[in-house]
Amino acid sequence: MRRLLIATKNAHKTHEIRAVLGGGFEVHDLCTHPEVPSPEETGKTFAENAAIKALAASEVFDGWVLADDSGLCVDSLGGAPGVISARYAGEGASDSDNRRRLLQQLTSFSEWQQRRARFQCVLILAKAGQVRGIFQGAVEGFILASEQGEGGFGYDSLFVPDGHSDSFGVLPAEVKNSMSHRGRALQAFKQWLSASPEWD
Ligand code: IMP
Repeated sequence: MRRLLIATKNAHKTHEIRAVLGGGFEVHDLCTHPEVPSPEETGKTFAENAAIKALAASEVFDGWVLADDSGLCVDSLGGAPGVISARYAGEGASDSDNRRRLLQQLTSFSEWQQRRARFQCVLILAKAGQVRGIFQGAVEGFILASEQGEGGFGYDSLFVPDGHSDSFGVLPAEVKNSMSHRGRALQAFKQWLSASPEWD
């Protein structure tokens, strides 16, 4: 069994990561490791923020750490909310505050072609204060004019992936995980593991 600490307190992320990695992994997160720090995310890119989280945790935790930094990038908004996806409507904002802000920002863009967006995810694997792997994933789609569905988290109920007519808030979790930014980054991680199987 491979033990892995996810450097997050976001239970939705942990749930998706556990589902995609499947058996063979014992996945924990910071909810059960309060001694591990959650540093301020001061980076300008997903990769910088993932590295900040992975390294801070791996300096304290004795074992493998995986950090996920992810977010939604909307073309008409110059890539916003991007790295501030979790706090788009301000510090301490809820997911629904952030979705409301996004819909407000897009009110003058009524054509779906003007509402092109992608979710991006960077995973950084670290151990003993050193980066051991970087894995990325993205999924293209567009932003709805109003929420659809109650599944998932964050911006899921507003995002329709290309090739589908329902949002991630409606599509079953397995369908989301099979094509999502996080699912794709995790597949890259699994591929890396199969090529370098030592997990000391
Ligand atoms: P982070 O914790 O700084 O990586 O921020 C991630 C934020 O991006 C979340 O709080 C959500 O707002 C958004 N996000 C990332 N991944 C997803 C997803 O799979 N679905 C919906 N929103 C997501």
